[in-house]
Order: sequence, then C-alpha cells, then structure tokens
Amino acid sequence: MRDRLRRLPAVDTLLAQRELQELSEIHGREQVVAAARQQLAAARSAILQAQPAAADTCALITKISAQLERQARPSLRPVINATGVILHTNLGRAPLSPAAAAALQAAALGYSALEYDLEAGRRGSRLQHASAALRALTGAEDALVVNNNGAALVLILSALASGREVILSRGQLLEIGGGFRIPDIMRQSGAQLVEVGTTNRTRSADYAAAISERTALLLRVHASNFKQIGFVEEAPLAALSALSREHKLPLVDDLGSGTLIDTAPFGLAREPTIQESVAAGCDLVCFSGDKLLGGPQAGIIIGKAPLIARLKRHPLTRVLRVDKLTYAALLATLRHYQRGEALTRLPVWRMISRPLPEIQAQAQAWAQLLGGEVRSGESTVGGGSLPGASLPTALLAFEAGSAQGLAARLRQAEPPVIARIADDALLLDPRTVLPEQVPDLLRALKAALAAG
Ligand SMILES: *Cc1c(COP(=O)(O)O)cnc(C)c1O
Repeated sequence: MRDRLRRLPAVDTLLAQRELQELSEIHGREQVVAAARQQLAAARSAILQAQPAAADTCALITKISAQLERQARPSLRPVINATGVILHTNLGRAPLSPAAAAALQAAALGYSALEYDLEAGRRGSRLQHASAALRALTGAEDALVVNNNGAALVLILSALASGREVILSRGQLLEIGGGFRIPDIMRQSGAQLVEVGTTNRTRSADYAAAISERTALLLRVHASNFKQIGFVEEAPLAALSALSREHKLPLVDDLGSGTLIDTAPFGLAREPTIQESVAAGCDLVCFSGDKLLGGPQAGIIIGKAPLIARLKRHPLTRVLRVDKLTYAALLATLRHYQRGEALTRLPVWRMISRPLPEIQAQAQAWAQLLGGEVRSGESTVGGGSLPGASLPTALLAFEAGSAQGLAARLRQAEPPVIARIADDALLLDPRTVLPEQVPDLLRALKAALAAG
C-alpha cells in the first residue's frame, strides 16, 4: 500500500504533462488543477481501501480528461426519450418537426421581419404573425401569442377581470403542476374568484345564480390532468355561452392542451378540440403551443376581435411576448395543419398515430440485437392531457441485474437515454424514440448492458 501511494505522481508532475497543458487551454488552468487534485484524491482513497485505482500518470490523465469533459457539458442537452410518455414535461414536451426546427434556425441565424411591414417599408407589429393561420384553422376572429398558456390565463384575467369577479366551477379549481393553481393565478391577476357548484356537479343554473354587476367573465378550465368518474356533471359550453350572451359577459375557455385534431380515432379519450370551443361561442380560448399542438412553448389566445384588441393593449402583453424563434417554429407548425400533413409531419402526432405492429417489430428487432424480452404495455400522452388514457405499445424489458443501475448507466450515455422502471424491470418504449436516435439508443444500451 505504501508503495502504491508513493508511486502516485505529484500534482505538478501531472500538470506538466502535454495532455494536461492542452486541456488547460480548453478548460482553463484552474479547472484542470482542481480535476487533477480530485482524481489524485480518489486514487489515494482507493489505494487506502485496498481497491483497484487509476494510479499511474496515463490512467490519471484519462480520468482527468473525462471529468473535464463531463463538467463542460451543458445541463440542457438532447436526450433520448424511451419512457413512452409522448409529452414528457421534464423532457421538454413536444419535439418540433424538422420544418419547424429549420424555420427556427433560419430566424436565429439572421434578421427577420419580426416587427417590420415589408409592404409599407416601416415598423410593423410582431403580434400579427400567427393570426392569419390561427384564424383559418380555428374559425376565430383574431389571435394573440404569449409565452405559455399559464401566461395567457394571467393576461386574460388581468386585462378583463382585475378588481372584479370571475365565476368558476368548483370542479375546475385545478393545480396544473409546478405549483400553478387556478385560485393563485386568479389572486395574482387581481380578480376575485367566485366558486360555484360542487366538486363533482355544477350546472349552468349555478353560474346564473352567481352573476352580479361585479362579474367580469365566466371561466371554464378544462380538467386536463385528472378525471372524475361517477356522479359527475359539468355545464355544457353551449349553455354557458348562451348565459354569457344573455348577460353580455365574456366566456373564457382554458383548454390546457387544446388540440386541432380529434384524439378519439387513435383509441384515446376525447380531448375537446379548439374548433369546438370556438363554434360553441366561447369569446376567448387559450391553449398551449407545446402540448398536443406539437409546436414550441407558447400560450395561444384566440377569440373575438374586440377582446383580443383589449389584451393587446394591456402592458402585460409586452412583458409576456414571445421572440422570433417561437414565432418561426409556431408558424411552421401551424403550416403542417394548414396543409393537412400534421399527422405525418409533427412528431407528437406521428407518435400518437404510430401503428402497434410497427412498434412491436421495432422492439423485436432491438431484442434480437441486444437481448431482453418484448412485452406488451402502454404509452401515455402526458403533458397534462388525456389523464388515464393510454395507447397499447410494445416494450423492451430487462430484468437481469439492477434496473436502477442500468437506468443510471443509460442516463450517463451521450446522449443520455431516459427509460422507465416498473416492477424492478427496465422498460424501453420505441414509440417515443425518434427514428434518427435509434443508432445512439442501441449503442448506449449495448454499452450499459456490458458494464452491468
Ligand atoms: C397545461 C395547462 C396550462 C398551462 O399551460 P403552459 O403552456 O404549460 O403554461 C394551463 N391550463 C391548463 C388547463 C393546462 O392543462
């Protein structure tokens, strides 16, 4: 042990090596010194515990170099989503289509007519970019895009209901996630919440009874991330719309995910569509850009022109505005819908509509290469939409050894692979793995299995 300790190189000896000099130029000398000290300390403590250690200069340099590389990696990195959760909030929700990514890149690399009227040759407004497409797709009179749907709700309530009352069913007092709770949003906007009905049943008569001269608007929040079953009743939008017209109050619908495409034909529950809310007479409808729409993070508000105009004039609109990258990606995403190619071009919809036999064949092919067992299982849409709904899928399962250990090694891969663990098995769902990521996934899996 003495001998092994004595043979450890000194820090200065290590730092004098050409490789570490080169690394100093890339990472800075301080980083290299710190990494060298850490690796020497690790080697020393391994020797003291009579364990194998990277103790010669060459092995230490390899370790130091690997540590520096790990430290230099950005924390926001592409990962492979093998969880089978399509809109995985922790993994960035909707992957963009290649066309949306290309549009985003084009906007990023140069100048764009973000606030410039090319016909008139003078200043224009960024707020109009998505309006034409959203009008055409939804039948609404006008549209406004803000940073996310939470922001959309804050803007609507601040602009239309500050200091006044908003009527909402007790069945719709939800927490969306990340501590985003409807009553808090209401308070933040200066609006006063008037709860009507009960947790499980609210009728339009309950809304009618709560309307007073202090009422600013009627709000419907789609219960997007939980499901009530049993003795349940919700006032239909059409009834709320009639009530709102009778009292000349706006009806606002927070759809959460919002979808332009009916989810039912894919064996999922029915998520209410955006077009339906417009047709039912909602005055404003808001939804996310990066849930089932399959685009960039954004909050999209559509509805009656005079109300959208009021929102545009509110100071929060400037605070919550989106940048050129978001507009570029959103417009390209909407264009897929306009061309009727959303199902084939948008990753989210390709994953939802992917035929089971194709997923089974892929899982079989992976099993043939790397072992494991193909099982039937379920993928979910996630992202606070379609609670309890799932899509039948095929999973590649590994039970040998520790599933946690295998999962950890997969997370260390480059790019990291995120898998699912259930009943001590590591599960990989091909549904959410993008085709171009498959070679990386297989390489990472092979290495992770070999290291186990
Ligand atoms: C997801 C969701 C939101 C928040 O949308 P973000 O775009 O994530 O800010 C708001 N309301 C409902 C009902 C939702 O499901």
